[in-house]
Amino acid sequence: MTLLDKDADPSGESRGGNNIGGEMVVLDGVEKWFGKLHVLQNINLTVRQREVVVVIGPSGSGKSTLCRTINRLETIDQGSITLDGQPLPEEGKELARLRAEVGMVFQSFNLFAHKTILENVTLGPIKVRKRSKSDAEKRARELLDRVGVGHQADKYPAQLSGGQQQRVAIARALAMEPKVMLFDEPTSALDPEMIKEVLDVMVDLAEGGMTMIVVTHEMGFARTAADRVVFMSDGAIVEENDPETFFTKPSSDRAKDFLGKIL
Ligand code: ADP
Ligand code: MG
Repeated sequence: MTLLDKDADPSGESRGGNNIGGEMVVLDGVEKWFGKLHVLQNINLTVRQREVVVVIGPSGSGKSTLCRTINRLETIDQGSITLDGQPLPEEGKELARLRAEVGMVFQSFNLFAHKTILENVTLGPIKVRKRSKSDAEKRARELLDRVGVGHQADKYPAQLSGGQQQRVAIARALAMEPKVMLFDEPTSALDPEMIKEVLDVMVDLAEGGMTMIVVTHEMGFARTAADRVVFMSDGAIVEENDPETFFTKPSSDRAKDFLGKIL
C-alpha cells in the first residue's frame, strides 16, 4: 500500500518517464546573495508533477537555501519561482497557504515538544486548512498508521525515537495535502539503524506519486526513487542526470571529486 493511493500508478509498474506530469516547481534564473556571498547563481530547475529530484553537493553549496526559497523561508534577489504555475506569494495569508502546499521536512524534526503526536499532525489542517477537529484527527491517524507510528499518537515527541519523530514530521507535512514535499537531509541526524525506516517511508511516498525534492547523500534512495539527480557546487547547478549515469559517469570534475569523497 502506498501513502497516496489516489496517485498510485495503476499499472503497478515502477516509476517511469511517461508517468511524469506538468510543471510543478519552476526556478528560472534565480539569484541570491547573503551579503557578499553569491549563494544561488543562475538556478534554472524544473520539477514536474510526480517527479523525484535528489539534490546533492558539498556542504555549503546552497542546497538548504535552494529548498528554503521554494517555500519562501528565504527571499530571492533575481529570477522567479513558480509553484503549480503560480508565482510564490509575497506575504500574508497567501504565504501561509504556500507553506501548506510545500511540505518541508528538515534534518531536525521540529515537532512541537509540548503537543502530542496527534496534535502535531492535526494543528496545521485545523488552523490553515480549516478542517474540523474530527476530520483532522481521522486523517492524522490514517497518516500516522501509514508511516508506522499510529500506536504513538497520544505520546509526546520526546518519548519517540529520532526515526519515529522524523516519520511523524513527514505525516505532519502530508496532513496539509502538499503539492510538493521538500526534504532537507532528513536522515542526517538519525542513528544508522533508523535511517532505513525513514527512507522506506520516502520511497513509498515517491512510488505513490508525490512530487519530491530531496537533499540527501543517500545513494540507495537516489538510485531507487530519484528520476533525476541535481549536483550543486558553490551555489550553482553544475550537473544533472539520471541517477545511474550520474553515479557511474559523472561528467564534471567537481562531481567526480565529490563522489570520490562520499562513495
Ligand atoms: P548546504 O545546505 O548546501 O550546506 P546552505 O544553503 O546551508 O548550504 O549554505 C550555503 C552558504 O550560505 C554557506 O556558505 C552558508 O554559510 C551560507 N548561509 C546560509 N544561510 C545564511 C544566512 N542566513 N546568512 C548568511 N549566510 C548564510
Ligand atoms: Mg544544508
